[in-house]
Amino acid sequence: MKSQRYLPLFLYVLLFAFLILNCQGTIREKKEAAQSDKIAGSDTLTFVFAGDVMGHTPQQKAAFDPKTKKYSFTECYQFITPCIQPADFAMANLEIPLAGKPYTGYPYFSAPDELLEGALSTGFDAMQLANNHVADKGKYGITRTYNTVNKRVPSVGVYLRESQRDSIYPLIMNVKGLKVAFLNCTYDTNGNPVPKPCVVNLIDTAQIRKDVQTARQRGAKCVIMTIHWGLEYELKANKEQESLARFFANVGVDAVIGSHPHVVQNFEWIQRKDKTTVPVFYSLGNMISNQRWKNSNGGILAKLEVSKSTGKVLKANYLPFFVHKGTLDGKFQYYLIPTEKYLDKKYDFQLPEKEEGMLKAFDDATHERLKNVESWGKP
Ligand SMILES: [Zn+2]
Repeated sequence: MKSQRYLPLFLYVLLFAFLILNCQGTIREKKEAAQSDKIAGSDTLTFVFAGDVMGHTPQQKAAFDPKTKKYSFTECYQFITPCIQPADFAMANLEIPLAGKPYTGYPYFSAPDELLEGALSTGFDAMQLANNHVADKGKYGITRTYNTVNKRVPSVGVYLRESQRDSIYPLIMNVKGLKVAFLNCTYDTNGNPVPKPCVVNLIDTAQIRKDVQTARQRGAKCVIMTIHWGLEYELKANKEQESLARFFANVGVDAVIGSHPHVVQNFEWIQRKDKTTVPVFYSLGNMISNQRWKNSNGGILAKLEVSKSTGKVLKANYLPFFVHKGTLDGKFQYYLIPTEKYLDKKYDFQLPEKEEGMLKAFDDATHERLKNVESWGKP
């Protein structure tokens, strides 16, 4: 009998708690809706870029589940995905050919297709393909990589034949009403020949000048150069990169995003003759890799804010992240961890002392190198 008297009271408490929680939920949802309305109604679009998606043999091993015999790279990105997904447009450089089995590591790579799936799970809308490894597995590797990527998202920089390049390069994307053109080229293909009729864009200034004109003729209001260049492990851009960046700015490129050195390089705003400025991220470093040494064990995301009405780049920011190789919750993997959020103790895990020291060193060195641009990593 007693329990019958208490039961309705218990139900009232439950109902009250439910109403309070539900009400809070509604307020929060309304706030979020208002926020997204504000963003949707604003004139600003955000673009996020990541560096080299590598697929070294130890990464392939970590991604393999011996029970299911399947590969998965998706969990590597769980902490970085919230920094990429909200962007209006995001892209990275796929440095490793998807040439099928047997999967191989350096120097002639072929990674499982799941390497691409893992990267795309973060929200990339397109992938760059012009890099020094794209021809590692010859014509078959180029063709298979191109076809595999394009079944999922558009790619830029590599084509199956010249006529295809003519018709779809530069890659023009309609980003919420703004037409943006992406260029992509590489300094070389490690001396590996590019078998005909495949085309890999090389750094050719006369051609690039024409490509920018083509982008404008086809209606692009903003032109972004993504380029594979520079010297590996050099922390500062060299004279050649600096002079190319000036050339790009002066022929009408609105932002330059670099990759290849496997370290983060310096940043600068280049002023054009008409006083407008062009942000240059010389190298974003690795997106993911097995390179465990100082400065290569992390990378940055570059964020551009672009005016939807004019196509003008309004702002540039970066977010540093560390690639942790080790276990979290008992699972061995490579985890991309935004450093500022980690150092602000926003995660419910703690890295082993040595890894935490490397993360801190990466964070410090990256902020020091990029003193002239703001980070957006502080939560
Ligand atoms: Zn490279």
